Amino acid sequence: MTIKSINAQEILDSRGNPTVAVVLRLADGTEVFSAVPSGASTGIYEALELRDEDNGRYLGKGVLKAVANINDVIAPKLVGMDVTKQAEIDQMMLDLDGTKGKSKLGANAILAISMACVKAAALSKKMPLYAYIAELFGNSTEEFTMPIPMSNVLNGGKHALGGADMQEFMIFPVGAPSIVEAVRWNAEIFHNLGKLLKKRGFQQTVGDEGGYAPKLDSNEAPLDLILEAIAAAGYKAGEQICIALDPASSEFYADGLYDLKMEGRKLNSQEMVELYKVWTQKYPIVSIEDGLSQDDWDGFAMMEKEIGSKVQIMGDDLFVTNPERIQTGIEKNAANSVLIKLNQIGSVSETIAAIKLAQSAGWTCIVSHRSGETEDAFIADFVVGAGTGQIKTGSMCRSERVAKYNRLMMIERELGSKAKMASFPYKR
Ligand code: PEP
Ligand code: MG
Repeated sequence: MTIKSINAQEILDSRGNPTVAVVLRLADGTEVFSAVPSGASTGIYEALELRDEDNGRYLGKGVLKAVANINDVIAPKLVGMDVTKQAEIDQMMLDLDGTKGKSKLGANAILAISMACVKAAALSKKMPLYAYIAELFGNSTEEFTMPIPMSNVLNGGKHALGGADMQEFMIFPVGAPSIVEAVRWNAEIFHNLGKLLKKRGFQQTVGDEGGYAPKLDSNEAPLDLILEAIAAAGYKAGEQICIALDPASSEFYADGLYDLKMEGRKLNSQEMVELYKVWTQKYPIVSIEDGLSQDDWDGFAMMEKEIGSKVQIMGDDLFVTNPERIQTGIEKNAANSVLIKLNQIGSVSETIAAIKLAQSAGWTCIVSHRSGETEDAFIADFVVGAGTGQIKTGSMCRSERVAKYNRLMMIERELGSKAKMASFPYKR
């Protein structure tokens, strides 16, 4: 089915910053909407998110240039193309851009169209979006793997200034038999955590991803609080619920040292790895993302060697969903897992390539939201189609986070016995 029109516009994300949205129509009357998310603790190797940089509008954060690139440059080339030719469409946009980091047209412009094409093709073919995505991956549509959700119930770092140095303290319901149960367990723990904080006189306001952001006195304190909340909710830590971390340590790294400001100490890479090692012995931590900084390949390799046999060592800023950087990581044995964010690389086809490359090395992949999100729940269908078995999409409140959980529950109910819950450690 051919593309009839593509119209981009500027909308707001969950932080109130502008982002790109697209309405795409097909010749058969199919109409879809897609919207692009935006990070705060962005990696320096991410594809370019094009912003207007003029201080007149939205403090320079407007996206009218990206919108114009869609309406004036990309749309005229794509109208008339077959929407099911995803690889060709994405390649056409990469060629039009012509730069390595999508700095001419903007990854936000390209991704909005790339996702819209996937949605429109699925709708036009009268297929559920996740099933069409499974076909794009070459995966079976007889059975689908539902992801275990990592839910960020305590926010720090750049997502909650004044909170912990480390960015994300997540509950990870590895024992849940379904996504519906996983969501319930995580929501119950989230509310118990809120009650605990209230009882101790901490504020219950939430950070960018919907997790609480209390002012504690160490980076370890959130771990104790989470264990208490798990117990208060009636679950078994280490069996039913484990803990996942994203320190996002590129944000507190400078001149070879990791600056744990709230604790008044600076650690080198080896000391950071030692800290994580102690924590993984003391707490049921099974996954650590960006435990070290985006250029600290040696530190990552050390961490993988020290604790990689027991812990998922995941790169976010390190890999930025970029096959070239993932390849380097595989060669250096620097991790065993990749966080997958579509807007870090900027097209659906390249994201699929990144996942396939990581999986070819036996690594796990976790599909992720950004801290600035929209109501677009594309990643929920994407993770089910990709079948990677894990998703990270924030805490158990705020509609831009909950939209993804809600969609996952709806998919699972629709699939019935064709839905299988992922296990952890996840094997393909
Ligand atoms: C992350 O670091 O994993 C994250 C989701 O945050 P951001 O979108 O700000 O990069
Ligand atoms: Mg991260």
